[in-house]
Parts: sequence; C-alpha cells; structure tokens
Amino acid sequence: MPWRPPTPIEIYQLLPQTNCGKCGEPNCMAFAVKLINFDTTLEQCPPLIEDKSYAKNLEKLKALLSPPVKEIVLRSPKRVVKIGGEYVLYRHELRYMNPTAIAIDIDDSMDRDSILKRIEAIEKFEYEYVGRKLKLDLIAVRSVTNDPKQFAKTVQIVAENSTLPLILCSLNPTVIEAGFNVLTQEHRPLIYAATKDNWREMAELAKRYEAPLAIASPGDLDMLVSLAKTLSEGFGISDLALDPGTLIGVNGLAYTVKAFTWLRYKAVYDLWKYAGYPLIGTPISVWSSLEGDVMDKMWWEAILATLLMTRYADLLIMHSIDGWVLLPQVMWRFQLYTDPRKPVAVPSGVREIGKPDEKSPVIVTTNYALTYSIVLSDIEKAKVNAWLVVIDTEGLAVDVSVAARKFTGEKVAEVIKSSELDKKVRHKVLIIPGKAARVSGDVEDATGWKVVVGPVDSSEIGKFIEKMWTENKLKELLSQ
Ligand code: SF4
Repeated sequence: MPWRPPTPIEIYQLLPQTNCGKCGEPNCMAFAVKLINFDTTLEQCPPLIEDKSYAKNLEKLKALLSPPVKEIVLRSPKRVVKIGGEYVLYRHELRYMNPTAIAIDIDDSMDRDSILKRIEAIEKFEYEYVGRKLKLDLIAVRSVTNDPKQFAKTVQIVAENSTLPLILCSLNPTVIEAGFNVLTQEHRPLIYAATKDNWREMAELAKRYEAPLAIASPGDLDMLVSLAKTLSEGFGISDLALDPGTLIGVNGLAYTVKAFTWLRYKAVYDLWKYAGYPLIGTPISVWSSLEGDVMDKMWWEAILATLLMTRYADLLIMHSIDGWVLLPQVMWRFQLYTDPRKPVAVPSGVREIGKPDEKSPVIVTTNYALTYSIVLSDIEKAKVNAWLVVIDTEGLAVDVSVAARKFTGEKVAEVIKSSELDKKVRHKVLIIPGKAARVSGDVEDATGWKVVVGPVDSSEIGKFIEKMWTENKLKELLSQ
C-alpha cells in the first residue's frame, strides 16, 4: 500500500488540543492542517516538545509524518544539505521535498593550487533564475592514490577552503578514517562507499564517527538490498544511502533507469524499508567507463545527470564543472522541485536596481516570480536606477492579486516600513502597476505616499519614467 498522508483529525487527536496559540495558529486544528501540508513542523508547537506528558504522542506524530525515504543530513561548519526525505513517486501527489544535491569531485592526486582553483569554481558557480540563486551543494573528495596520508592532506585543504559539506570517497576504510581524522566534529560527511567486500569495516567507521554511509553495488540489486538489511538491522545504522550503479551502453542505461525506479517504487508504494533510503547517481563514472574524447564524456555526463534526477536520484556525483553541463541540471532541478500546488514566489522586500539614490523612482510589483523577473529585466533594460518594492501577494500576479485582495495598501506599507525606505528617498511617490490602478487610493491611504499609476505593460517603464520622472512633474504631482 502506498504512503498516504495522515488526515487532520488523526494529527489533531495527538496534539495537546489546548488552542494556546503558541505555534502562531489560532487553534490546534489549524496547526494540524499546516502539518499535513508540510507548511510547518512539530517543533513549532512548544507544549508538545517541552511537556513530557506528550512524549508518547510526539513519537506517534513523528511516525505518522515520517517519510518512506529516510532524510539524511550532511553538514559542514557553514552549510547543511539534506537528501532524501521523499514521500511520493509523482510530484503532483504532494511535492518533492529535498532537491537533488549535486556534488563535484576533487581527487587526491591534485596539487594544492589546482584544488584551490577547483574549490573556487565550485563555490562560485551560480545561476540566478526567477529570483533564486541556483548553486552546487557538495564536494566529493576522491582517493585515487589509495594513500591515507595523501587523502587526509586533500580533505584538510578542501575543508579549510570550502563552505560545502563533503563526501569521503574510497573503498579503503583506512583511507576514509584518515579523512575523518582531519575533520572537526562540525563536519558530517557521507562515507562512500560500503561494498560486499568492505561493509563490516565501513559500518564500524560509520558508527564511530556517527556518519551516514553509502552502499554501492553496481548492477546487483539483491546485494544492495541485502547490505541495506544487514547494516540497518545487524549494525543499527539508520543513515544509509543506496547506489545501484550508473551504467552506460544500451543495456546498462536501461538497467540503471529500472534500478532507480524500482528502488523508489518499493520505498514509496510498498513501504519496503530496505529500499527507503536516498539514491545516489554517479554520472562521474563515464570518465572511467566510456571510450571517446572529453566532449563525448561531458555530453554523456550531462545526459545521465538529467536522466537520473528525473528518476529519483537524491544525490549526483559529477566531474564536469563547465557551465553548459551544469546549467541544465540546476535548471531542471529547480523545475522538478518547485511545489506544484503553489505559484513560484520570490521574497518580499526592497531591491536596488542600478544605483538608486534619494531622488530615484520607487516602483511597486508583486512577488510572483515571473512578474518579478520581467519587471526587473524591463527596468534594467531601460537603464533606470530605481527602488523596486516587492510585496508579498503569495506568488500571485498583479491582476489576480488585486482581485484576490492580496495586493493591498497595507502590504505596500509593511515593506516600506520594514525596509525604512522613507529614510532612503526624499520624494514619497510610488509608481504602482497599471493593472493595480483600482487600489491606488488604498495604497495612498495606507502608506501616506502619493501614488502614480504606471504602465500596464512593464516594457513601457523606461518611456514612462523618462516622461514623468522630472523635477517639474514631481512638484506638480506633490502639490495636488
Ligand atoms: S502551540 Fe500546540 S497546543 Fe498550542 S495551539 Fe498550537 S498546536 Fe495547539
């Protein structure tokens, strides 16, 4: 039977039912509804967490809300990356939870300068898309020398110069231990990997360092599942991840896709716990298994990464750092992991476009990601220095948010107040979108600012500003 979300009543019956409001909701039922939509967490109910008399109920709630695919946390002193934690096979059934983490490798045959350059490239990779910064997540430090000292040296350089959590990659437990010896307790790397030959020693390391452990069994699902059973039940290791192999060639590719799909299906539909762990794809394997030139390998790595992300990979280990290989991955990940039940929104607040000063125009828009990026791009194209006030319309576009009463004077006033915009500009004039003309009075009343109705189409903003944003026009406007 597939995983099914608990009902609000099932959750409500286990909450304290005092309607105290400490969670920020008017009552426990409202909190229960938010919980089943994954819009809040159990930790937001202080009585449930702090009062020991609710301890049993808390455990039952955790069980009801726990995902069929275990969530694993990887950490560095500066970043936390979560993988897995998935509930459904198809995004429209709920949403996907933790975006596929992308790791780039660094190997221990590289000299210090090359390592530092590669770290810089990994950390600086960023693509801004509809108000979000799309970035890489992890560094996979690989032992190719099989020398513990060399591996420890590389891990140390990476840990000291990067903010990202690590994956320690070697099939030799002595090498992995050397890596742990140079990391502080603030690090929680993933060990990659236990196999049929080294699982006992790797399990001991995972226990000693309280680290998550990947199991690799390329091309042998029976062995993969059998190791998951032994390590979870025999050794009590709960944080596991599964690598069924990323194989290429016609048969290899078909096997890989089927293996990923089968494991996720068994986890989510049959609630089979030995399949209920994050899945690891290794598109990097093309660099050792594929004949051909560098471009062939990069193409294949890009194709495999996209394919495996689509087929439930929770973590991808890659080698290519070129933008044309990684850009499709971060863009596709963004699309795949947005919540289909909610419009894509950007944070509200005030953005500086160009170099605005106290005389620059103040333009208002909504936080619907598409509207925001079009307006932003139109202002930039027009080369206007401006303050852009982005209000929280719950991700709705201008016309819809006006109709739904999400575009209100109160919302504009909130942003002006929280950003102290009135201290940054002298004129107290707001330009609102043409489609929001009918709320101009409401905005004036709530903010105390003079409102000018701008163009309906933001591509006209350049001409509009040129025509109306002059000293004389502003004087005339403010004297009305
Ligand atoms: S804090 Fe807990 S007990 Fe209080 S209203 Fe919220 S859910 Fe109910």
